[in-house]
Amino acid sequence: MKVLVVDDDEIFRALLREIISEAGYEVSAHANGQLAWEYLSVEGADMAVLDVNMPELDGLSLLRKIRTSERLRGMPVLLLTIKAFVEDQVAGYETGADDYLTKPFSAEVLAARLKTLERRILGRGTAP
Ligand SMILES: [Mg+2]
Repeated sequence: MKVLVVDDDEIFRALLREIISEAGYEVSAHANGQLAWEYLSVEGADMAVLDVNMPELDGLSLLRKIRTSERLRGMPVLLLTIKAFVEDQVAGYETGADDYLTKPFSAEVLAARLKTLERRILGRGTAP
């Protein structure tokens, strides 16, 4: 089970890699949406954790590409942002996000959300 991680903040990216690896997933981490899209187009992934605010290609734009891709449209996507504004979350869900977390978040909550996405959307993973 491979999780795509995309965040332009190097410290957050390293933190996400650590949390998600420790939760038992393979991680492929990228610094912006464009690099992530280039990777995804070739390698694919099972789930994605996307920062919203990024240079080159932001999280919502990458999510839009994922949702219009024949191959990737069913992929569970969790968005991350430092903005806790309601309108950003609504925009995220309207673009096709499955879940949303605002920074800072707890490692345990992120891991639990990923397990839930895996179970609900992919129909696999450990039963609670
Ligand atoms: Mg960012």
